[in-house]
Amino acid sequence: MKKAVIIFSLFSHVATLFAQQWEPASTEWYSPMPPKVQPRVGVRPPSDAIVLFDGKDLLKWESSEPVERGQKPKPAPWKIVNGELYAVPGTGNIQTKEYFGDCQLHIEFKLPSPIDENYGNSGIFLQSRYEVQIIDGEYPTYVNGMIGSIYKQTAPLVNAYTKNGEWQICDIYWKAPKFDSNGLVEPAMITVVLNGIVIQNHYVLKGNTPYTGLPGYVPHGRMPLSLQEHGSEVGFRNIWIRHLTGFLEP
Ligand code: MG
Repeated sequence: MKKAVIIFSLFSHVATLFAQQWEPASTEWYSPMPPKVQPRVGVRPPSDAIVLFDGKDLLKWESSEPVERGQKPKPAPWKIVNGELYAVPGTGNIQTKEYFGDCQLHIEFKLPSPIDENYGNSGIFLQSRYEVQIIDGEYPTYVNGMIGSIYKQTAPLVNAYTKNGEWQICDIYWKAPKFDSNGLVEPAMITVVLNGIVIQNHYVLKGNTPYTGLPGYVPHGRMPLSLQEHGSEVGFRNIWIRHLTGFLEP
């Protein structure tokens, strides 16, 4: 008993000493300073964004069609009409030339009106393999394949789609999966805001988003962002992205 009391008093003495060493300022740091970024009102990209499409050209994009080793990827085969980018049925997906990991993506999309026979199917593939589904918001499909779903993994929290023929404003916050030599260390996480409404809240992905079979992870590093051509002339505009890995603790 006496021994226990001595140990306890020693422990509390050490704890008190330890506590006395801490000042509020000792857990505060001043550098490096996060860069100042100039936000811009409305739909314009912030000053540090990589503008992927601003209505003029597709220089930041290429075809997703696989090429032989040593061959150059084909140019992005979609069309620009009045400053808007449209998927051309039968031409395949397009992807960015730049590769991304953790990122913030802003993208606006518009489905045909009247809707076509494919119900405006398209998709936003983070890192070329994790799909946020684009499809007519009123199409009564399986809910883990509806607008704003993480395809075949989870339905959106709510349906925030307005209507076909109207621009849909989408912001995505993406935490890339992390791998080491033994495989998955940390799964991917996504938050999606559609028309100002959170429809995916820090959802942890089970893996990729295949049409057939179960999701799974295969180790990869940074990958292109890709957009799906699925037989519908879905429009896109004002696409910009920010890397979220540039800032380090001291
Ligand atoms: Mg799709």
